[in-house]
Amino acid sequence: MDDSVLIQEAQTAREQSYCPYSGYAVGACLEAKGGRRFKACNVENASYGLSICAERSAVVQAVAHGALELTRIAVAAEGAMPYPCGACLQVLREFGSDGMEIILTNGKHTERTSLGALLPARFVLDKTDE
Ligand SMILES: [Zn+2]
Repeated sequence: MDDSVLIQEAQTAREQSYCPYSGYAVGACLEAKGGRRFKACNVENASYGLSICAERSAVVQAVAHGALELTRIAVAAEGAMPYPCGACLQVLREFGSDGMEIILTNGKHTERTSLGALLPARFVLDKTDE
């Protein structure tokens, strides 16, 4: 499947965004090994800190469906380019490799990068000393 389908599904997911506070609607389409796809949007809350980004929402759906190896994600918004926040990058890295493709679009421009490029150093729980 080429990027355009993944991007289109992220744009479709964006239509379900619940963002009355920021007005910044984001959609994501995550692809797991084997080709299964999971779409999600950002969901805000009156208690701002409880809001969840589209990317993490998609990861939660994937894991809930048994998809633990993530290969690509497309993230769509309008206006500002939807670079994943640090929390989302860390959560994506739990199930994706440094080479995981990240495709970003704001409707006018599309950018392709990788998880390793956006999160070159990540937290890893190392229990080998225990
Ligand atoms: Zn985020």
